[in-house]
Amino acid sequence: MEQLEALLPGGWTDDRGRLHQKVVLKTLTGREEMLLAENKRRESASLVTTILHRCLLQIGEITEISESLCRNLLVADRQYLLLKLRELTFGTEVRATLPCPWPDCGKKADIDFSLTDLPVTPSVDKGPHYRIPLSEDAAFKEGDLMYDEVVFRLPTGADQEVISPLLAQNEARALNWLLERCLISIGPNKDPNREMIGKLLPKARFEIEKAMSALSPKIELALNTQCPECGREFAAPFDPQDFFFGELRSSRDLLYREVHYLAYHYHWSEREIMDMPKTRRRDYIEMLADEIERLNNAV
Ligand SMILES: [Zn+2]
Repeated sequence: MEQLEALLPGGWTDDRGRLHQKVVLKTLTGREEMLLAENKRRESASLVTTILHRCLLQIGEITEISESLCRNLLVADRQYLLLKLRELTFGTEVRATLPCPWPDCGKKADIDFSLTDLPVTPSVDKGPHYRIPLSEDAAFKEGDLMYDEVVFRLPTGADQEVISPLLAQNEARALNWLLERCLISIGPNKDPNREMIGKLLPKARFEIEKAMSALSPKIELALNTQCPECGREFAAPFDPQDFFFGELRSSRDLLYREVHYLAYHYHWSEREIMDMPKTRRRDYIEMLADEIERLNNAV
């Protein structure tokens, strides 16, 4: 399987207001694996954008996928696409090792699950803009003007790229920045700046964040599992980005060795081998290994 069709749980709305949800993805090749191996320290949201740009063949009727389009997909849609890419590259079965979170245990537990077990909830209202009223306690008044409703959009990869470096240093400022980017209006103010965001009451922020989360498409990324050592249940967090990138990055040396092995036996160029999907590269290596073993046994 080198291509896959899927339906984004959110979707992308173009300038003319048309919603695009169906996607076609192609599997990663040695080139993307190399890119991931060589950019271990690069901030991961921008790496997701690069990878999606290379592997997304189609969204709705759009076949010329720009990097900016990939960047502007909703956070959950990007996570969903990574899960699909993982499925294309390594299949749906996942085996992860996690420490049991109970302090008196802490033993390493192997967790097996299928990506198809992660519940995906598509968004109902596709927006892309959402208007919500603020409750009486959350609204505020300035002069004659009443600020009692907001219009926002949902966070995208572009927001993650900008915000994640700040998130580690100053979470409160990062969240302010996110609000500034996603809020389209506050009451009569159609372009709220930092000062305006600063006037929002904590209750208003809470209501906005709650509405954003309720309106977003969702992928459940915590698995209920049981520790095989102590038998107690716990929720295992699963970060598709870290996990999948980790799997792919595991070895640049191995990738070089595979290229060398195929080039040596088949006389293909490096370019041809690097353009192959990982699965096909592995199939050839297996065939070669079988063949070599057969020849050795015949001697
Ligand atoms: Zn345990």
